[in-house]
Amino acid sequence: MDIRRVRTCEKCKTSVPLSRVRLMPKNKDASMLVCDECCSAMQTARSQNPPKKPIRNIPANVEKRQCTRCNYSFRISTTRLDLQKPVCPYCGKDDRVTNRTEVQKQSESSLPGYTAIHRRW
Ligand SMILES: [Zn+2]
Ligand SMILES: [Zn+2]
Repeated sequence: MDIRRVRTCEKCKTSVPLSRVRLMPKNKDASMLVCDECCSAMQTARSQNPPKKPIRNIPANVEKRQCTRCNYSFRISTTRLDLQKPVCPYCGKDDRVTNRTEVQKQSESSLPGYTAIHRRW
């Protein structure tokens, strides 16, 4: 076999004739040579598994707190915890605010403090 007419598939490392070699985009800057079997396998995988983006856009550095005085749950940015004690946005006091990160089973969408706290900040 003429070696110049053969390429190695970068996916399965098999030597394939030039007629069966396909060029697939590897990322936005580079391409990779693959055999036609790997090419169709990659295309199938891409069509079946579109990249999923995380739906939640809640910042990672946010913790839940609850004011046990008025039973009011809210989220607080942990970057601000270095600056001040978390204050309940409902009653304005900080002496009954507890860490609620261990009690996250309740419905997150109905937490009333989330929008309020962002308006405040
Ligand atoms: Zn291959
Ligand atoms: Zn309160």
